[in-house]
Parts: sequence; C-alpha cells; structure tokens
Amino acid sequence: MERKEFIKKGVVATALAYVQAAFGNPAKAAARLANTGYRGVEGVLSPTNTHMVGNGFKVMNFFPNGKGFEERMSPFFLLDFNAQVDYPPSEISRGVGVHPHRGIETITFAYKGAVEHHDSKGNHGIIGPGDIQWMTAGGGVLHKEYQEQSFIKGGGAFEMLQLWINLPQKHKMVPAKYQSIIHDHKPKIDLHNDMGTIYVVAGEYRGVKGIAKTYSPVNMYDIHFNGHADFTFSLPANYNSGILVIDGSVVVNGHDVDENHYVQLKNEKGEIHIKAKEKGILLVLSGEPLNEPYVSYGPFVMNTKEEISQAIEDYNAGKFGFLKD
Ligand code: MN
Repeated sequence: MERKEFIKKGVVATALAYVQAAFGNPAKAAARLANTGYRGVEGVLSPTNTHMVGNGFKVMNFFPNGKGFEERMSPFFLLDFNAQVDYPPSEISRGVGVHPHRGIETITFAYKGAVEHHDSKGNHGIIGPGDIQWMTAGGGVLHKEYQEQSFIKGGGAFEMLQLWINLPQKHKMVPAKYQSIIHDHKPKIDLHNDMGTIYVVAGEYRGVKGIAKTYSPVNMYDIHFNGHADFTFSLPANYNSGILVIDGSVVVNGHDVDENHYVQLKNEKGEIHIKAKEKGILLVLSGEPLNEPYVSYGPFVMNTKEEISQAIEDYNAGKFGFLKD
C-alpha cells in the first residue's frame, strides 16, 4: 500500500528508546524468566490508532510508525494490520488505486474476506482466507489492490495484513514478479496433541522449508493454534524477531499478548514459549538485519537519496509500465 510520509534514515538508538517508552514495565516478567533459557521479551506494542489506506484498508501501523522501528525489524520495513472489520453488502469498490513500488517486496495476507490484485506485468490474483499475495517490486512495478468484488457485494468479515520486506542493495533492481500462495500449498507441521499447525511461509521450521523464496534470510510462520496450545520453538539469536497476534490471545515467555498486539523479542538465544489463552492465529516474523543504509520515500525504499530521485524520475517517465485504473 502507498505510504505518503517521508521516512528518514532510522537510528537504532531512536528505535530502542521508542521500544522502552512505548512498552510497559517488563522487569517483573524478565526477572521471573532470568536464566530459564527463554528468549527475552523487549516489549509488547498495543494496537495503534487506525488510518485508511485508500478506502479499502483500515490499518494499524506497527512499524515503521515514524519512529525508526523499521531498523529494529530490518529486513521487515512496514507492518500494516487491518484487524477484523464487518462490512454490510455494498456496490461501492473499496481499495487502493494504481501506484508504484521499487526496492521492496509487498506481501499481503488475507485472513477473512478476499483481496484482489492487478499489476503492470499483467499479473492478476484473488486471495481468500489463509492465502498470500507475494509481490517482488524489485526494479519497479505498478499495482492496485482491492477488496474482491463478490466479497464487497455480499459483505462480511474482512481481516488482512500487509508487510513490506526491504530488499538488500544487491537485489534492489531484480525484475518484478508476483506469486499467489494458496493456503493448502503452504508447507506445514502439525503440533502434537491437536494444539494447532505451523505453516512455514518462508525460511525453515524444524527442517520444513517455506514456500516463498526471500532475498535475505527470513523465517515467517503462520501459526493457527487451539485454546490448549502450549509449545516452544526457537529462532536465530541475531535475527530481528517479533510476533503479531492476529486472532485470539497468548502468553509469550511470561508476557500477556492479546489480540491485535505485537511482541518484540530481544536479539538473544533462547526458546520462545507460547501458551494459548484462547484459540487464534499468530504471525511470526524473523529476519537477519540488512545492516545497510536506506532511504524511503512513499512507496520506494532505496539505499541513497539519488536512487530515490531516480525512482521518481523513472516513474514519471513511464518506466514502471502501464496499468489501467
Ligand atoms: Mn502497494
């Protein structure tokens, strides 16, 4: 989705200060968990105020959020979550019109309802619950994103999420591509005792490889869990890692994390213990930091100001192709 604001190069110190200021006092839980082999919790972010992206997506923005958080979660750059909204039947189109991207991948998860995509490479896709649209913008593409037309006509519950992954410098200008990932095609591991299922979207979980290829090391899990779930897993210590609670509520290493909350994990070794309070869905994001300078402007994320100017120039010159409104 398009972002209007200009985000300056993030500063880690700012991000950490933000985390410390935004989060409550985790000292108690940290003390309880000291030396227990669990990965530390840096904090829990509450749901943010929502804003509209186009007229179709009512999102809370967990990062970058104008506070340098994109550097804390590098290579992940943007996390917009449209928590459940119930729509009456309608005839009015709802979504975001034609806009460009360069230098990133945009990944859309549908949880409820359906989302439709068209891009200037001629790709078209409709995704429903559990499906994912994975678009590599790379050197440049135009796309538009809408609630799917028959969903709009019938109305109902709508819940989706968009994530941007920053591309490493050496892959910034790869050719654009698009992939629809069908829920049933996601590699998965069933947890024992009917506790739920871990779908491996990217990276690897206990030897099961994810369906999506990424340009830098990333683990991404879509976890559907039942109310009695109680399990652990681990992620590389140096990977920036966080978990968004899409539905339901859980306790993560001793910290309550309710629906629409995001838990930021510390970059350290240790198991991540998830104890369900009620059935739900989690999104686990974990990636090796890029450690490269970056500059972003709206829908473009590049490494220098000059490359941003070039992106704007190329867009104005029609080099991103053509897509009808
Ligand atoms: Mn977009």
